[in-house]
Amino acid sequence: MFIKLTGGTVYDPASGVDGQQQDIYIQDGRIVKKPTEDVKVDKEYDLKGKVVMSGAIDMHTHIGGGKGNIARTLLPEDHRNDPVHRSDITRSGCGHAMPSSFVTGYRYAEMGYTAGFEPAVLPINARQAHMEMADIPILDKGGYVMMGSDDYLLRMLTAKKDQKAINDYVAWTMHAAKAIGVKVVNPGGISAFKFNQRKLDLDEQNAHYGVTPRDILRVLATAVKEIGVTHPLHVHGCNLGVPGNMQTTLDTIQGIGGLPMHLTHIQFHSYGTEGDFKFSSGVAEIAEAINRNKNITIDVGQILFGQTVTASGDSMRQHANHKHGSPNKWVTMDIECDAGCGVVPFKYKDKNFVNALQWAIGLETFLLVDDPWRIFLTTDHPNGAPFTSYPHLIRLLMDRSFRNEVLSTIHPEAQKMTTLASIEREYTLQEIAIMTRAGAAKLIGLKDRGGLSAGNWADITIYTDNNDRQKMFEKPDYVFKDGQLVVVDGKVVSTKWGTTHVVKPDFDPSVEKGLKDYFDRFLTMKLGNFKMSDDEITEDGRGSITVHPLNGDVA
Ligand SMILES: [Zn+2]
Repeated sequence: MFIKLTGGTVYDPASGVDGQQQDIYIQDGRIVKKPTEDVKVDKEYDLKGKVVMSGAIDMHTHIGGGKGNIARTLLPEDHRNDPVHRSDITRSGCGHAMPSSFVTGYRYAEMGYTAGFEPAVLPINARQAHMEMADIPILDKGGYVMMGSDDYLLRMLTAKKDQKAINDYVAWTMHAAKAIGVKVVNPGGISAFKFNQRKLDLDEQNAHYGVTPRDILRVLATAVKEIGVTHPLHVHGCNLGVPGNMQTTLDTIQGIGGLPMHLTHIQFHSYGTEGDFKFSSGVAEIAEAINRNKNITIDVGQILFGQTVTASGDSMRQHANHKHGSPNKWVTMDIECDAGCGVVPFKYKDKNFVNALQWAIGLETFLLVDDPWRIFLTTDHPNGAPFTSYPHLIRLLMDRSFRNEVLSTIHPEAQKMTTLASIEREYTLQEIAIMTRAGAAKLIGLKDRGGLSAGNWADITIYTDNNDRQKMFEKPDYVFKDGQLVVVDGKVVSTKWGTTHVVKPDFDPSVEKGLKDYFDRFLTMKLGNFKMSDDEITEDGRGSITVHPLNGDVA
């Protein structure tokens, strides 16, 4: 099948193409060069006046793992209000805050997304996370394995094991969990919660192990760099949601000593304590620190108003937040010796001072961080809002008058506490393409995604240009996944299965000696069962594994 996309206006930041008219050719699932001799075009699409980008990539979205199922179980009313019927080509399910797996795939594709990355794969629960993601059609996926509150690492730190031993353990865990990155959530804090600590700041010791979050971040960020993983250590920092946590965030940036680090949902970590309500925006200082420290990347975790559910590995902070649960129900649990989990339904309200200011803080972050290659568009689905609200968020970023219109309706005290009204910046289409495509692929280390030059897989989204950016991004004209037309006019017209992106860093196999004794003594699972094999993802004929190169590999 040879496909020609003719005359579209192409935004491909990966090759520096910014709104130029170009033809794109697709053969066998990939983008190819313009053929030299006469090749029969099987299908041609006239894209004159249309906007062409590569398929969007969500680099932080909770789409697999136990917490999603707890959230679903907790919210039957959320499903009842959003049933999705089957069609000849799509399966039934239900939606809104935490859609079922099939609906997740369809709804992402219908917005032009072709990949999503689960940022909190617990190693002991990796099999379930991958099996659940295996049930998400169309999208490529991948996971960041969660470390940093696991007893094995904390024991290693207490025993003063050297960096090489920690590197082996991190690389081994990435293999076992089939990961493409490493995530740390409230470093050491999930463990500290089990020892009855209810807060843990950057330099506070875990009462049992005597190690601090700062120690944990340093060794893990070093390990990720030294074993050659492209995606920097993915950090959900200390003190999520705590007024005044901006200082912790600034100290975290400083404390990593120039190592690559990704700070996730930074909106929840950018709070000051000024004003009558002792809650204020710390974005000016945080954005300044990010602009200055080129080793730091961030995603925002924008909140948008309405019902959602928060689902996090941060049992310590979720326990503290449970009193805000709406509807009033919640779950917090410890998970073996690995970590924990907390699920709290949440309704963000524009007439609530704190929620209104959180909304403004997220937008200030987008608009005050200069480099679109180092900031990513997320709502931390479903924590800040369901992923289906992305087109609305894009309009807020691209349309200043619309933004100011919404701003004028939120809690009046929150309006006084934000500089948003004075910020003139409007994102361009190229900047949106960087944040949601080229930048995301670069950050995660996907070597042939996120771009439209020859050699890339043909993940392509085509929109009708529209000044109402929400309408534009809600309903692409066409979406191609690996060269297959999967969406027309914002509706799924065919489905396929995406691949699972991983890396496979080297490790010394003798790492298993100590681990075997630890598993036998402390865990419910044996070492052999803990390790996933590639077959478990590929053997049903739907899934596949794509191994990406490490830094230093010869391409
Ligand atoms: Zn998250």
